[in-house]
Amino acid sequence: MKNKLVILVGPPGSGKGTQALLLAEKKKMIHFEASKLLEKKFLNSSEGDVVTVGEEEYEIKEQERRWREGLLCEDGFVSHVIKESIEKTKDKKETVLLDGYPRTKKQAEISLPFFLSLYRARDILLISLEVDEEESIKRNTKRRVCALMRHSIISTPETENLTICPLDGSVLEKRVMDDPEKIKIRLREFSEKTVPIIDYLQSKKINILRVDGTGSVSDVFFRILKEVENFGL
Ligand SMILES: [Zn+2]
Repeated sequence: MKNKLVILVGPPGSGKGTQALLLAEKKKMIHFEASKLLEKKFLNSSEGDVVTVGEEEYEIKEQERRWREGLLCEDGFVSHVIKESIEKTKDKKETVLLDGYPRTKKQAEISLPFFLSLYRARDILLISLEVDEEESIKRNTKRRVCALMRHSIISTPETENLTICPLDGSVLEKRVMDDPEKIKIRLREFSEKTVPIIDYLQSKKINILRVDGTGSVSDVFFRILKEVENFGL
């Protein structure tokens, strides 16, 4: 079996992170979460370390400061970090699942030639998890985190009555940052930056699958599974 690349995108509140974990476990995929790869890169670097990409130089600690302030890292830098990780898997048979990258059209443009050097276009699949704005706001404003590990529990029919964290049993608390206005900003940012990625990859003959992200975690997961199995996974 030839290896494949699956890219999962979805707005805040789509449950993308949870679905990525489930999919990677069920289908034995190598799961790369962009923010975790960045954190690891930052942890393993010292002041003054740089990465060189073509003619550009990025100072790693400078990228880390941007990231800690809540800004996005530069496209060339993030793309390099992702590329480094995927490269290490090129002799493996497992499918790679990318979660949280690409985040901008620029990142998609930077990484596509690299993806196509490892995978045939027909072996690359982008899954867009779709949740409308109203549903996303509802889920985000009702989102809670657990007291012990800060596990994030979005509101779905099966989680709304939970009072304790299903993973560790600690109490669930309301998050203060999830006010509707801030969520609207994050949603707008998502649609401005992500929709062009989908259009761009589609124009390059990459498979695009749109999956309805409403309903319970298991309902959504079954929809995703059906689609990836049709895709040959
Ligand atoms: Zn927890």
